[in-house]
Amino acid sequence: MIRKISDILKEKDRTYSFEFFPPKTEKGRAKLPEVAGAFKELGADWFAVTYGAGGSTREATMEIVDELQKKFNVPVMHHFTCVGHSQEELKKILGKMKEKNIKNILALRGDAPEGEEFWTPSEDGLEYCYQLIKLIKTFGDFFSIGVAGFPEGHVDCPDKETDTRHLKIKIDSGGEFVITQLFFDNKDYFEYLERTKKAGINVRILPGIITITDYKVLLKFCGTCGATIPQKVHDIFKPLDGDKEATYKAGVEFAVNQCNELLRGGAPGLHFYALNKIDPTKEVLSKINR
Ligand code: FAD
Repeated sequence: MIRKISDILKEKDRTYSFEFFPPKTEKGRAKLPEVAGAFKELGADWFAVTYGAGGSTREATMEIVDELQKKFNVPVMHHFTCVGHSQEELKKILGKMKEKNIKNILALRGDAPEGEEFWTPSEDGLEYCYQLIKLIKTFGDFFSIGVAGFPEGHVDCPDKETDTRHLKIKIDSGGEFVITQLFFDNKDYFEYLERTKKAGINVRILPGIITITDYKVLLKFCGTCGATIPQKVHDIFKPLDGDKEATYKAGVEFAVNQCNELLRGGAPGLHFYALNKIDPTKEVLSKINR
């Protein structure tokens, strides 16, 4: 039986989850179950699969979620965005998820398509994530719903307090837990915990972790998602740029220190942006005090 993440969170003090994206190549697609199987061996509480901005990778998300759930009997969270969908389409896709017994969703607004500067909702679509949560709730309690959180504040939001108010609306609408944007300064996460608690948000806030394995990829990734790269990170990784082995080693060491400090400070587990690779995350997991 596939469990709801909300039920797992009631039972476990700490959870470990791993996020994948739908691979673009057949080779990558064929390898993903092997990667997921290795994470199951390492004690994965659930997997998550991202939802693309458009095109065929979107259907691939549901196919992969369905396949991994059936193969491993582990909950797999389907990321789901409002981008490019009318409300009717959103409902239709939710119906398909229900048919496939996909019970766990990360509800998201999504970003403006590449090349467009500002986010605008689709025709007959939804403007904000909390509206998607309300739509999901029209299916009763079938789905367990997670939401995105931004320790540094969301890029389009004027300040952190407003961002926290918006998070509260998502939780009040039915969001049951939060997974954060990646960050490299744990102070941002701990301050976020305080700020959200003060605002009356009492759900689990799981830190999203990425292991740095390539400096240029890091710059691109953070440029897209708006996460700040602190100077200390530039100082470590810029001089290693081009040296794969040294970057890998430093990336694992940085992530191990970051994860240990988070867990010591009370983080209720870790959510890894595993990027379809087993090695760096496996090494980090083997070195942290879980
Ligand atoms: P919202 O919560 O709707 O917020 C969007 C903006 O609107 C924010 O600035 C917010 O402050 C503001 N806002 C929110 N509510 C209100 C309100 N009531 N009134 C006024 N303003 C409001 N993207 C993908 O395309 N696919 C993925 O699979 C994916 N996975 C992700 C996983 C995680 C863990 C995270 C952190 C992000 C992910 N994203 C993904 C990116 C995400 O879609 C973008 O960051 C998006 O810009 C914000 O989504 P949201 O659900 O937080 O939006």
